[in-house]
Amino acid sequence: MVITRAANIPVASEGQCTVTLFVNGRGFPWLCEEFAMRIDIVCPLPAAIESCISTGIVGRGRERGLVEIVLHNLHDFADNRYGHIDDEPYGGGAGMVIRCEPVFACIESLQRERSYDEVIYLTPDGERFTQAVANELSLAQNLILLAGRYKGVDQRVRDLLVTRELSIGDYVLSGGELAAAVIVDAIVRLLPGAMSDAESALDDSFQDGLLSAPVYTRPAVFRGMEVPPILRSGDHAAIRRWRYEQALARTKERRPDLLNSLPSEQ
Ligand code: SAM
Repeated sequence: MVITRAANIPVASEGQCTVTLFVNGRGFPWLCEEFAMRIDIVCPLPAAIESCISTGIVGRGRERGLVEIVLHNLHDFADNRYGHIDDEPYGGGAGMVIRCEPVFACIESLQRERSYDEVIYLTPDGERFTQAVANELSLAQNLILLAGRYKGVDQRVRDLLVTRELSIGDYVLSGGELAAAVIVDAIVRLLPGAMSDAESALDDSFQDGLLSAPVYTRPAVFRGMEVPPILRSGDHAAIRRWRYEQALARTKERRPDLLNSLPSEQ
């Protein structure tokens, strides 16, 4: 059984919201107490992520109090007066490694304030970040995202502090701040009230195991190319069928691997 929370519709009564729980792809509205999520981002270069968390759906989610996002500069936790957080790798070789002390000082100070569902290290050798992981993390109350730089963090941080490691893809970024921004965006858009059209997240690619169907808007004809007439027919059942067929065809063509993990009823 696959359970995800995918879209959420705030209701009038103060302090409560409805959340749509998805069980094997089918949605069930669920009335629950309002909850705000907190995400702490621990990183060497907070400026690299500031605009990502201040604009768009994430920025609005923060303004509406759906999510609290706090940036922590690892340099503020350096144990030397120069603010250095890195040192040469044992065994030699190129590049620097982020030291244990500033990371432990920062994360342990946060853990003294509240308990966290996960302490997540962003790293290219981590578990692949997918929509299913975003759905799962959107149910968390408190998360820490730890972003590295240079050659990464001392292995003892990973062994002792980190509970989960995520990669946003098979390539290497110069720092984990952008990876953290990707994860925050994917999570926050799923929170209750984050999107003006709460249904919109439901038919996004990957949400039901398929890629998304093509979308069109006005004008009906542009440079001789016409919008498929069925989308203007007003026949909602036929439109739903057409979208499903298009999504299936696009998935077969571009990502046949996804079809292997579709729930059996599809
Ligand atoms: N030496 C590391 C390796 O080969 O796995 C790469 C370090 S990378 C230059 C610096 C930081 O960027 C990492 O500590 C990590 O936080 C972040 N990073 C780079 N690529 C990433 C990816 N694909 N997913 C998540 N984080 C990534």
